[in-house]
Amino acid sequence: MFDYVIVGAGLSGSVVAERIANDLNKKVLIIEKRNHIAGNVFDHHNEHGILVHQYGPHIFHTKLKEVWDYISQFTEWNHYHHRVLGSIDGQHVPIPFNLKSLFTLLPQHTAQQLEQKLVTHFGYNVKVPILKLRETSDEQLKWLADYVYEKIFLHYTKKQWDMTPEELNRNVTGRVPVYISNDDRYFQDTYQGLPKNGYTRVVEAMLDHQNIKLMLNTDYKEVVTFNADTGSIMLFGQPFTGQFIYTGKIDELFNYKYGELPYRSLRFEHETIEQEKYQSAGTVNYPNEYDFTRITEFKHLTGQVHPYTSIVREYPQPYSKDIPGMDIPYYPIPQSQNQIVYKQYKQKAKQYNQVVLLGRLAEYTYYDMDACIAKALKVYEQVIRGE
Ligand code: FAD
Ligand code: UDP
Repeated sequence: MFDYVIVGAGLSGSVVAERIANDLNKKVLIIEKRNHIAGNVFDHHNEHGILVHQYGPHIFHTKLKEVWDYISQFTEWNHYHHRVLGSIDGQHVPIPFNLKSLFTLLPQHTAQQLEQKLVTHFGYNVKVPILKLRETSDEQLKWLADYVYEKIFLHYTKKQWDMTPEELNRNVTGRVPVYISNDDRYFQDTYQGLPKNGYTRVVEAMLDHQNIKLMLNTDYKEVVTFNADTGSIMLFGQPFTGQFIYTGKIDELFNYKYGELPYRSLRFEHETIEQEKYQSAGTVNYPNEYDFTRITEFKHLTGQVHPYTSIVREYPQPYSKDIPGMDIPYYPIPQSQNQIVYKQYKQKAKQYNQVVLLGRLAEYTYYDMDACIAKALKVYEQVIRGE
C-alpha cells in the first residue's frame, strides 16, 4: 500500500513526504505521535486569536537561495528581521553584543578605545566568537572579553544547558558572536522572515497531497516493528520492503543499545496580556536574572495587529523520556563524548539500507530550520530518488 514510511511530521519528515508525493508520485505514510503536524515549528492561534509558537520563537533565516525558493512555494512572507535585547545591569542592549552594546554599557572614552582596538585586531563588520575573543593577548581586549563573557554568556549558558560555555562545543556560543558592527539584527542572512499565516499552514500545504496519509497520535512502535538486530521492518504486521525515513530519536530506534543520548528540554510559559505591547523587541534575553532565559512577544515577529499581546517565557529543564512535561527532547547536547555514542548508532544504522535518518533527533544535530530543509532536500535527491 505504501512505498515509503516516515516517522515524524516535523519539518524534516514533511519536506521528504512532499518530495516523494509530488516529485516521485509515490505513496507515503507519515506517523506522528503528537496530536498535530509541524513538530517543534507548530504554531496556532490561541484563545484570544493571537498567533503563537507553541514550542518557542521560530524565525526563519537562511543564506541558501534553494531553501528559500523551496519553502516559498508554500507561503508568502512577513519580512521580519529579528532583534534581541539583553537585560544587563538594568539596561537593554543589543544581543549579539555589538558596538551599540559597548557604547551603552561602558563610559564613552573606554568604549571608544575598545572600539578602536577591536577594529584594529579583527576588522570592522567582523564576528568574533566569545571564546575566541577571550584568547586575545591584548590586556584591554581581554578585559572586555571577560566582561562580555560574564555579563552575557556565562549565566545564560548555565541556565540553558546547566553547563559552562567551555563544557559545550565552541560553536554553541559561536552562534551568537560578538559583532564588530552597528548592525543590531540577530541574523545577517540574505533571506529572513516569518511565513505570513504561520508555520503550521506551511507544513499543511506540504502534506496536502493524495499520496500522503498522515497518522497523528501514534507512536511508530504501535504500527511498525523494527528489528534492531536484523533491520527487518514490519508495517501493520506485514513485511515492509520500502524505505523507512526516521526523524525521531536515533537511540530510541535502537532500543538504547549503546546508552541514552542526552538532551536538554524546556518548559514554555505562555501568557496573554491585556495591553497592546509588552516589550520593545521581539525577544529580550535575561542572562543574569530569573530562571527563564528569554521572553518573546509574538506580535513583533508576526506583525499581527491585536488589542492584546502574547508572550512566552522559556525555562530550561532536564530532559527525561519517562517524565511527562520533561519528555520533549528540544536540544541535542553538543559535546564530543555524545558524538562518540551517536556515531555508534549511526554506524549501526548504516547496515540497513532501508533506514534513512533525518533531522535534529535522528542526526543528533543542533539544526536550524533551513539546515533541516537543506539536508532533507539533499537526502531526497541523493538517497531516496537516487535509489
Ligand atoms: P522535530 O520538529 O523534533 O520533529 C520530529 C517529529 O518526530 C516530532 O513531531 C515528534 O513528535 C516526532 N516523533 C518523535 N518520536 C516519535 C515516535 N516515536 N513516533 C512518532 N513520532 C515521533 N530554527 C530556526 O531556524 N530558527 C529559529 O528561530 C529556531 N528557534 C528554535 C527555538 C526553540 C526553542 C527550539 C527548540 C528550536 C528552534 N529552532 C529554530 C530549530 C527548529 O525547531 C528545528 O530545526 C526543526 O523544528 C527540526 O525539525 P525536525 O523535523 O528535524 O524535528
Ligand atoms: N547565549 C548566551 N547568552 C545570550 C544568547 C545566547 O549565553 O544572550 C548562548 C547560550 O549558550 C545559547 C547559545 O548562545 O544556548 C546559542 O544561542 P541561540 O540564541 O542561538 O539559541 P537558540 O535560539 O537555539 O536557543
